[in-house]
Amino acid sequence: MKQFDNKRKNKISITISFIILLGFIVTVAINTISYDAIIREDIKNISKLSSSNIYSEINNELIKPIFVSLTMANDSFLKGWLESESVGEPDSEELIEYLDGLKLKYDYNSVFVISEKTKDYYHYKGVHKTIDPSDLHDQWYYNFIESGKLYELDVDVDEAQGNALTVFVNCRIEDENNQLMGVVGVGLEMKEVQGILGLFEDSYDLESFLVDQHGMVQVHTNNQLIESYNINEDETIRSFTDDIFANKTTLKTYRYNENGIDGYLITRYIEDLDWTLMVKKDTSILRRALYAQIGEVLIIVFIVILLVLLISNNVIKGFQDKMLVISKTDELTGLMNRRGFNQVLYESLKSGEMKETCFAVFIIDIDNFKNLNDQFGHLLGDKIISLLATHASKALKNQGIVSRWGGDEYVGIIYEDIETATQILSNMQESIAKDPDFGEYSVSISIGITASKHTDTPDIVMGRVDKGLYQSKEMGKNCISVV
Ligand code: GH3
Ligand code: MG
Repeated sequence: MKQFDNKRKNKISITISFIILLGFIVTVAINTISYDAIIREDIKNISKLSSSNIYSEINNELIKPIFVSLTMANDSFLKGWLESESVGEPDSEELIEYLDGLKLKYDYNSVFVISEKTKDYYHYKGVHKTIDPSDLHDQWYYNFIESGKLYELDVDVDEAQGNALTVFVNCRIEDENNQLMGVVGVGLEMKEVQGILGLFEDSYDLESFLVDQHGMVQVHTNNQLIESYNINEDETIRSFTDDIFANKTTLKTYRYNENGIDGYLITRYIEDLDWTLMVKKDTSILRRALYAQIGEVLIIVFIVILLVLLISNNVIKGFQDKMLVISKTDELTGLMNRRGFNQVLYESLKSGEMKETCFAVFIIDIDNFKNLNDQFGHLLGDKIISLLATHASKALKNQGIVSRWGGDEYVGIIYEDIETATQILSNMQESIAKDPDFGEYSVSISIGITASKHTDTPDIVMGRVDKGLYQSKEMGKNCISVV
């Protein structure tokens, strides 16, 4: 019975846990899917917006030096000075003063001009050097001339400025016959452009950089990557590079998911610079945060399940215990009922098998109870049944147990030898006879008693006490028969 109840209890617990877990999983799944979509869309839009802002800031920062360089390339003084080189030796101090003035005015890191005729490199402080095709550092000049472009942005170290990493704007100077006179330009310290990117990177937790048409990094907050890292080497975005450079529309968004790293890449070609702005936003952190949160919720759910199981188990156990007591209790007298007694008798006989000591089993029947009922009514009959139960319990104290067998019969066990047990019951008969509550109804009881034997079964022992009771009735009632 108990085993069956425990099985049932476990089944209920498992069902409750399963329902809570299922509810949790469904809720989390729905929330995760919808939040993930919303948050990703938000991140995409914020990244796009950031990209537009970076684009404007970078454009502002770099478009001005392009204009200044283009204006210088058409400046009549500069052209005149370079022209005069073919007829004599113009005053280089004048040129240097001119360059210094511009540097002061625009606060660029460098302002320079290179004469195609003499290959002299002038900057705002003086003649820096005479460029030479065999000098690797001067290669840019020949490449630029070769490209035929009107202007170009080039990232290089500025030898004239302690090798500071610099974004140069190089611009052709041509005479009226489109003959090359030299190259003029300004140098902008990389730190200033990096500052713009850094500001956005810090605010929006993203990576932004500029690449040339070959994918080579030109501006990045990490100096190590400039002119040395190509986006074709980046596993996460390599597959998009063809598309990025194939058609240079204004803004493109790509979603990458490679080796557990996912995110957005937003690219924008900046025509005036001939560079492409790249904004990379890693969203794997979002997934990780989501997993961490699910983990936390899971722990809470497990704690809740555990608590629910603990409480429900306690409630069920309490309920079961109560049911067990009720199922073994007689409603009228509060004594143990027949079912309870049978169990106690069975257990007592079983434990008695192993011990030397035996106990006494008895049965009590009220004499002429039918008459009492008929004469004074069933309610009084009930009262007498209850009063007798109290007498029996009192008489036995803690030496045994008594229970209601049914009707006007009681059965019990006294864990004493037969003589002591008989004496206890005899005393009980006396106390009933003396009880003023029974006065006018002259209540008496007949008893059958027997000592248990090692070989007894419940049926055998009950058969014997029944026989004893029968004898007592036969002998005129109100007596005890030991069998
Ligand atoms: P005897 O001396 O031979 O025992 O005679 P008796 O009249 O007591 O006969 P018996 O024991 O056979 O009668 C039992 C009666 O007890 C029968 C029934 O009407 C009555 N009875 C059984 N249960 C209850 C009960 O719960 N309340 C009341 N008031 N009477 C009950
Ligand atoms: Mg009777």
